[in-house]
Amino acid sequence: MFPKRILSSRKRKLPINFFISDLHLSQEQPGTIQLFLRFLQQQAPQADNLYILGDLFDTWIGDDDSAPPIPSILTGLKQLSASGTRIQIQAGNRDFLLGERFAAATGCSLLPEIHVIELEGVQTLLMHGDLLCTDDKEYQQARIMLRSSAFASDFLARPIEERRTIAADYRKRSGEVTSLKADGIMDVNSETVAEIMRQNGVLQLIHGHTHRPKFHTFELDGRAARRIVLSDWHGNRGAALQVTDNSAVFISC
Ligand code: MN
Repeated sequence: MFPKRILSSRKRKLPINFFISDLHLSQEQPGTIQLFLRFLQQQAPQADNLYILGDLFDTWIGDDDSAPPIPSILTGLKQLSASGTRIQIQAGNRDFLLGERFAAATGCSLLPEIHVIELEGVQTLLMHGDLLCTDDKEYQQARIMLRSSAFASDFLARPIEERRTIAADYRKRSGEVTSLKADGIMDVNSETVAEIMRQNGVLQLIHGHTHRPKFHTFELDGRAARRIVLSDWHGNRGAALQVTDNSAVFISC
């Protein structure tokens, strides 16, 4: 039996929620993988909830891919969920093919691309963020095709090595196009933000994707609203948003 004192202090413990996104894990960035595995072992177990808002992986060619570093990442996630931290994950524009087999292997729950939670009493909209970048018409057009069930079933039916080649080629071309685009086009459109918050009845939005971490406060239909943009992870630098009770802060990982 635990002494009563410990039981009651555990009960009073404030719930901790961590939010991360845009780690872009890949074999080419071993430092970020090490950082993430350490985060899963050392910081994340303190949290009741870990939310991953997209682009955990730099590319995802199907749940049947077991090339390194995937197995070690799946194991790390599985150990965390087994230890009692609830992990919920949204797909990003890079890892949009994450599926049920991944969820079963890790104990993560897959969230829809537009999802509202109650976060410490505040209705909060969670998104990866790419849907908010409506100034990039070319991207939104391509997204419709890439996110169709026809694309997924055609792509996933191909042999894994062919998928790997297609994904690498696509990534290279999209990188070339992105580097030519004006900076503003790659950010969110504020009217789209307002509209989607209105539709979902929220005054708080948390998203990633733009790699421009910041707390934005603004007025939405005469009421105080907040948009929190998560940080990407790069090299040996990572950050999480920690929300506990009424405080929301970025912590380094
Ligand atoms: Mn993204």
